[in-house]
Amino acid sequence: MSISDIFQALGPHPIAGGCPDCDSETRFVTHAPGVYVMEIHHDDTCPDYIARRARGAAS
Ligand SMILES: [Zn+2]
Repeated sequence: MSISDIFQALGPHPIAGGCPDCDSETRFVTHAPGVYVMEIHHDDTCPDYIARRARGAAS
């Protein structure tokens, strides 16, 4: 099993955690063949996420 196989297997299954400040989830998303992006999905009350949005560093 390659690392790509692991990321593909994890892709549809969010992993709890990823941000110490909220009830976040982490997902591995295929960006291009063989290229994966780790996305951390913060909850709406996360102080880090609110600060990132305020300075335009998150959507
Ligand atoms: Zn957070």
